[in-house]
Amino acid sequence: MSPADFYRRARFLHSAARLDQSPPDDGFEVAFAGRSNAGKSSAINALCGQKSLARTSKTPGRTQLLNYFALDDARRLVDLPGYGYAKVAATLRAEWQGVVGDYVEGRRCLRGLVLLMDIRHPLKDMDRQLIDWAVALGRPVHILLTKADKLGRSQANAALSAVRRAVADGPAPPTVQLYSAVASQGVEVLAGVLDRWLDRPHEDAGG
Ligand code: GDP
Repeated sequence: MSPADFYRRARFLHSAARLDQSPPDDGFEVAFAGRSNAGKSSAINALCGQKSLARTSKTPGRTQLLNYFALDDARRLVDLPGYGYAKVAATLRAEWQGVVGDYVEGRRCLRGLVLLMDIRHPLKDMDRQLIDWAVALGRPVHILLTKADKLGRSQANAALSAVRRAVADGPAPPTVQLYSAVASQGVEVLAGVLDRWLDRPHEDAGG
């Protein structure tokens, strides 16, 4: 089975408002996080070759849910609520920190965090905090610089180098790549990272 076919099998499983409403904490999970409007839904849809798996039009800040997508019996993708909208009230922000904090800190089956940032607006305060905190917890972090089609090639590569340098501290720094859901750029690189984190089975089990 090709990587593309594996991720195409993703199907919506469950939404949870709290960690304790989540599916059993076993198997392998990869979570996606990012500021609202960073392109997270589009990125997940492009990875999974589905137009509306993750919803791309939401009321900013209203959806504070952990959305679980099953790939197979043991492997899941998790769409974490977006953060960083100025309009979001302090109570919602606290709720976000609670839900996402509990998840990233407490979820044993979490194998890695994909952090999405608009290539034109990388490394905002909340992004940095999330990166530092996840790395400190020993969670592998992979960064997607999204909407790479919005920049020319040399500008995009310059942004890539700058972000790589900025996060290069420590023994296990985040990895960084360019991504465009519109141009289908970087989908295979992302799938390769997820394959390793999820320990994707390579033998074709006939499904
Ligand atoms: P989310 O809030 O992080 O889930 O972001 P969405 O996936 O809903 O995308 C936010 C906006 O950015 C939408 O208007 C998308 O059409 C646009 N967008 C997302 N990905 C890309 C991309 O790769 N290229 C371009 N040009 N626009 C994108």
